[in-house]
Amino acid sequence: MSDDDSTEIDCTMPENPEIRRLTDWNAERLRRLLSEYASPLYVLDLQRVRENYRRLAAAFPDADVHYAAKANTARPVLRTLQSEGAGIECASAGETVRALDADVPSERVQYTAVNPPTEDLDTVVGRWAQGADDLTITIGALDTLDRLESRGYDGRLCVRVNPGVGAGHHEKVATGADAKFGVPYERAGEALAEADDRGFDVVGIHAHAGSGISGEDLQSHRKLVSRMGELARNSPVDLEFVDIGGGFGVPYREDEDPLDLDAVAEATREALGEVDATLEIEPGRYLVADAGVLLTDVNTVKETPDGRVIGVDAGMTTLLRPAMYDAYHPIRNVAPDAADRPAIAQTVTGPICESADVFCTDRSIAECRRGDALAIGNAGAYGYEMASQYNSRPRPATVVLSGEKEAIARRRETIEDVTRLEREVEWL
Ligand code: PLP
Repeated sequence: MSDDDSTEIDCTMPENPEIRRLTDWNAERLRRLLSEYASPLYVLDLQRVRENYRRLAAAFPDADVHYAAKANTARPVLRTLQSEGAGIECASAGETVRALDADVPSERVQYTAVNPPTEDLDTVVGRWAQGADDLTITIGALDTLDRLESRGYDGRLCVRVNPGVGAGHHEKVATGADAKFGVPYERAGEALAEADDRGFDVVGIHAHAGSGISGEDLQSHRKLVSRMGELARNSPVDLEFVDIGGGFGVPYREDEDPLDLDAVAEATREALGEVDATLEIEPGRYLVADAGVLLTDVNTVKETPDGRVIGVDAGMTTLLRPAMYDAYHPIRNVAPDAADRPAIAQTVTGPICESADVFCTDRSIAECRRGDALAIGNAGAYGYEMASQYNSRPRPATVVLSGEKEAIARRRETIEDVTRLEREVEWL
């Protein structure tokens, strides 16, 4: 971490609000970060990650929290959350390796295998055999049992159940009722018994309704949890935990209210009923979304018959959510005199050759000029993780903050990084 001139800027932000809005970020500091680390740039505040964890853990005092690393795998995030008491839920061998290499003890690591590629099983079972022997593998199909057995795995095993209940901010992330995920609910008991008979150390059941669940989805959440409670009470094997997944939503729009965590926790307790196992939750987005902003420079301003178009150097390759899910992200002009400029309708677009490469259309934002810096809010979850090199664009850096301290957690890629894996084909 570096001590630098950031100490001259007041870095304080509202302490532990239920949601940190884009307006809460210090514009002067964001401008300085952008000029120091170059554009585009992800900024992630670890203090905010801590606050989010503590608020969620306080609402679910009896639950064991596993952070869904897919939301943001930056090592300082994994380390911060682990030091707060969270386990880590991993969606791939790569995430599992990241968690173990960040010194998360194997008993706090769970790998959720969805149609696991051979490399994933080889890698995870390999790490298990080499000392990470308390990790848990969650299977979503009996086929995976065969594949684990053939690799000699007889460690901790959890069965993912398809609860037949889906929810979430977009149909593309409502996984709960999608046949791709989990063992059908009606066959879950058999799957648990079979895994136990075959010598696996069966420890839990798991389900996940979807991502970005709001207060309106409480009914679906209740239904999923109550089905999991029922299954736990009828389980043919003793269970250590019942994992009801993640999905706790955050407000992306400025006028949206934060999730009523106490209401969700209360509904969860009621729906689960008495079970002789620990409740587990797997939040991703909730812990990191509002801890992150994406900063980007304005490079083009164009008046057109269809409106004012603002070109920035971040695009759908940097933050995919608007193109992928039509997701709304707040956008703020952080130019020093932005408050004195008129708010006018502007369309903010990236440099990618796709019409989907748009962050907002005709949105009222303080008039943007070439050279301004824009901040895109709630970018801490599924931002960098979904970034790509499409159009041969290097991925941006991530800077982490904690109070006045700051450090690069991921350096910016170069064009050389993008082309490094290629070699000459001799016959061409
Ligand atoms: N658990 C599982 C199995 C998931 O698939 C996901 C997200 O897709 C999560 C947890 C985290 O969801 P969220 O980030 O919405 O909390």
